[in-house]
Amino acid sequence: MVSAFSPQSAGDLNFLKTLNRSAVISHVRRYPGATRADIASRTQLTKATVGSVVQGLLDQGWLCEGELQPRGEGRPGRALYLDDTHHVLWGADIGVKSLRLVACSLTGQHLIEHHDAEAPTTPEATMKRLAELLNQLQQRPEVAGREILGLGVTAPGPVSPLIPVLRLAPNIRWSDVALLDVLDEAGLTMPGVRLLDNEANAAAFGEFYFHAGTPPESLVYISAGTGIGSGLVTGDEYPLVPRGVQGLLGEIGHTVLQPGGLYCHCGNRGCAETLVSGWAIRAALGLDENADLEKEVGLKSHEPGVQHVLARAGEALGVLMLNLHHTLNPATMVLGGSLLRLGEALTQPALAYFEAHQNDLLRESQHIPIKLIEDSTYTAARGAAAQVMAKAVLDV
Ligand SMILES: [Zn+2]
Repeated sequence: MVSAFSPQSAGDLNFLKTLNRSAVISHVRRYPGATRADIASRTQLTKATVGSVVQGLLDQGWLCEGELQPRGEGRPGRALYLDDTHHVLWGADIGVKSLRLVACSLTGQHLIEHHDAEAPTTPEATMKRLAELLNQLQQRPEVAGREILGLGVTAPGPVSPLIPVLRLAPNIRWSDVALLDVLDEAGLTMPGVRLLDNEANAAAFGEFYFHAGTPPESLVYISAGTGIGSGLVTGDEYPLVPRGVQGLLGEIGHTVLQPGGLYCHCGNRGCAETLVSGWAIRAALGLDENADLEKEVGLKSHEPGVQHVLARAGEALGVLMLNLHHTLNPATMVLGGSLLRLGEALTQPALAYFEAHQNDLLRESQHIPIKLIEDSTYTAARGAAAQVMAKAVLDV
């Protein structure tokens, strides 16, 4: 099983059917209320093909019909929507300090949220805990009777682009772990697809896939928490998450901003994480590594020393945003992660730096939209659930 959504070999009739189903679901996901005629004209599939694919998806509970849509002089068509009542997608986010789980419907509605405040220990113990939680949560009435499409798991570090192996999570000191195998060995009983991805990649995917209305041309999600990473999604009907040959794409926390600077958890010096990350801010403020940063900063927010640390971290975040702007040039950026809870003392310097420099190169007045997610507790888990849906669509 791969965690990428690369197309399968072409020239196969089943593959063609899969693509047609995927195109129809994708269209209804992006344009809720579309009719069969709308889908045919926009996807360039024949009306007969659309009719047959839609019927199959209605029968399988992926789509449902709504009101009659008037169509100028033509016959009115029945509005189509994703059916929110038959399926469930599971997402689990292994954070540096906790475990977050969601169960979603096909439109990304949360049916269950669960936040386990226990920090990961070993991969085996953490996967045992995850398996137990999932085995219990599956029995809850909110999801009972729904068909399970699968589980996506996210981890705080780069994942191999070819096999579901977490290469490294420096902030929990795990390396080269086949997490999905460990999860199976821990006794998880759940049908459907299984995926593993980096948490920022998954969060980016979810923001794109469950985007209300037409999604942007591309999107970068910056995850600013204990560590700092990012994920990129591009594409249209078939969103793609580029990962790089070793899965390192988007590991902005380990791009070097200060050669010869402070030591990073990765062993190098002057990485962005030494300036803007939960661990670096805690260290700069003289706090214990497990201290509640939001609470501590809230108590001392008037102190000049605290303001200075946050302003410096915020500006480093702005530098990373500008570097992403010039290397990936996404149509929109989304900022999430626990550091966003520190509020404007951190985000304002970041946004100000980006705003001041985003047009230096082209001398234009274009502004890249930036969305801040103050509470991103479930953003990565929800993104993992979105990835399950995108993969399951191909397996319908
Ligand atoms: Zn580093």
